[in-house]
Amino acid sequence: MSERFKYREDREVYSAARVRALEALLIKKGIITDRTVDTVLEFFETKMGPFNGAKIVARAWVDPAFKERLVADTPKAIAELDLPDGMAGAEGEHMRAVANAPGLHNLIICTLCSCYPWPVLGLPPYWYKDPTFRSRAAREPRAVLAEFGLPISKDVEVKVWDSSAQIRWFVVPERPAGTEGLSETELEALVTPEAMMGVAVAKAA
Ligand code: FE
Repeated sequence: MSERFKYREDREVYSAARVRALEALLIKKGIITDRTVDTVLEFFETKMGPFNGAKIVARAWVDPAFKERLVADTPKAIAELDLPDGMAGAEGEHMRAVANAPGLHNLIICTLCSCYPWPVLGLPPYWYKDPTFRSRAAREPRAVLAEFGLPISKDVEVKVWDSSAQIRWFVVPERPAGTEGLSETELEALVTPEAMMGVAVAKAA
């Protein structure tokens, strides 16, 4: 495999030490309390995460009119659903959905840093922030997707959407074949964060 990522081998130990030092300093200076970081993390693990995105995608799969509204005006369509308060809050202010279709595959990245639609996808995985992934996904998306185990055939167009503080993209993957009999809840279970980033497709269980 060519250079896909450039993170350090000891990145987790290194990051954890940096986070501990920063958190301790912010608490010492009275900027945050000893509960602040845990509270934010808990919020993005239990209230704002890929389970919300899965509900949005499953609804789009069963309701084509909703899918059209979702792509046309993402925040407005999301507001139709019974999701937790805060879907338009931090990192969700300017979300836009793009839908895969026969002959079209979408991939979301952030070339500048790590902009990501937190309310629908949760916290971004480490590789999404990796400089090598970010630059290669922009330059040679097909090669990168193949390395993710998703070779895209030549007759399928690949579109790469660069997220920023102005727009945060997510992908509505195609509904897998053979799922006609499934309920909306059962469909939700097939929607992975990777499929909503475009580095995978949704698959029937
Ligand atoms: Fe960013």
